[in-house]
Amino acid sequence: MKMTMKTPLVEIDGDEMTRVLWAAVKETLLEPFVELKTARYDLSVTERDKTCDRVTHEAAAAILKYGVGVKCATITTTEARLKEYGLARLYPSPNATIRAVLDGTVFRSPILLESVKPAVATWTEPVVIARHAYGDVYKAAEMAVAGPGKAELVWTGADGSEKRVTVADMPGGGVLQAMHNLDASIESFARSCFRYALDAKLPLMFAAKDTISKTYDGRFREIFADVYAEYKDRFAAAGITYFYTLIDDAVARVVKGRGGMLWACKNYDGDVMSDMVASASGSLAMMRSVLVSPSGAYEFEAAHGTVQRHYYRYLNGEKPSTNPVALIFAWTGALSKRAELDGLAELAAFARTLEEAVIDTIESGWMTADLQPLSSLKPEKALDSWAFLEKIAERVRTTKR
Ligand code: NAP
Ligand code: MG
Repeated sequence: MKMTMKTPLVEIDGDEMTRVLWAAVKETLLEPFVELKTARYDLSVTERDKTCDRVTHEAAAAILKYGVGVKCATITTTEARLKEYGLARLYPSPNATIRAVLDGTVFRSPILLESVKPAVATWTEPVVIARHAYGDVYKAAEMAVAGPGKAELVWTGADGSEKRVTVADMPGGGVLQAMHNLDASIESFARSCFRYALDAKLPLMFAAKDTISKTYDGRFREIFADVYAEYKDRFAAAGITYFYTLIDDAVARVVKGRGGMLWACKNYDGDVMSDMVASASGSLAMMRSVLVSPSGAYEFEAAHGTVQRHYYRYLNGEKPSTNPVALIFAWTGALSKRAELDGLAELAAFARTLEEAVIDTIESGWMTADLQPLSSLKPEKALDSWAFLEKIAERVRTTKR
């Protein structure tokens, strides 16, 4: 008898190699065990083009409505993709559209293996990164100027009032940049971090540079402190702590630490530090990634892209050895969150069993080509994606639940 579900899970399909693997993961590891109940949105680039991107907005709205989504990697359109797929126009990145609707924070944590040692020898538990996904340098205005002059920052209020500061009296040509953030977005970022830390029972650190950026980074620090006041008692009850520190101190602490903490990063810091943590921990495909909205909606995803190079080999008739672990963990994360919200103990147990089967398969020497050179098990050969999925399925079938 297959397990059943209550509320539909919002399933967001994507592009290229990850789309091929998405179907294979469902067929091999999910559908034989679970009567999947999903609200499916096809965010392949051709479907987005056909619907003038309406489907992306519908998918985001569905996550807000049902509370949990799982997303495959999608192509972000470029001029090259426009030609390749004969698209009518360029579209915004689906991830950016969904993030804007959910107003979320992205949490990324490495999936650790005994047989793949992280580059930082002291890490025994994952370093989890929380990245604020709004504003700063990603929404900045920039300008290059050719000669001497005065640069000013001007704000014009909706009531016509004005604030003005001098940025610099420039003796010669140069470059300028102005960026912003919003109190409301910083507050939801902080709230998402406190909520996630409580869920995962991880101590939380927020780091910025408020000694230099007293107003901008200072505002982030203040808002975190205000929101913490609401969570203080629950943190104490859970035995976890929150503290603020300078970003340079944070880097030193993380590199000397044992992991097992949540590190809240401003947008740019989060971009850089999550890549650092991913590569220091092994492979891009060995990361969990979830977008959490302050209203309590969750979107689980693979942190990597559509693995285009492998897809072209697949189209040529090869069976590539693409690592499906991040896709599988996106599904297990989403299913176990659905199980928690709907009170489905059996489904929660299945998600745990599947995650353990993935880890045990790799720790037994069966893995894809990205892990083979890193593994202390020195396996003679890597499996193609399908053979790897079949090895995992064998384990799931023989595990008593
Ligand atoms: P990518 O798909 O992450 O792949 C870059 C390289 O990383 C691959 O060529 C492969 O290296 C390795 N890799 C990534 N995932 C892997 C996996 N699961 N197993 C084994 N190796 C893996 O990045 P990209 O090639 O720059 O981007 C391709 C498309 O993805 C673009 O259209 C981009 O817009 C999109 N993208 C989407 C998302 C998202 O939706 N979340 C995120 C990033 C990029 P080798 O070739 O050396 O084996
Ligand atoms: Mg990056």
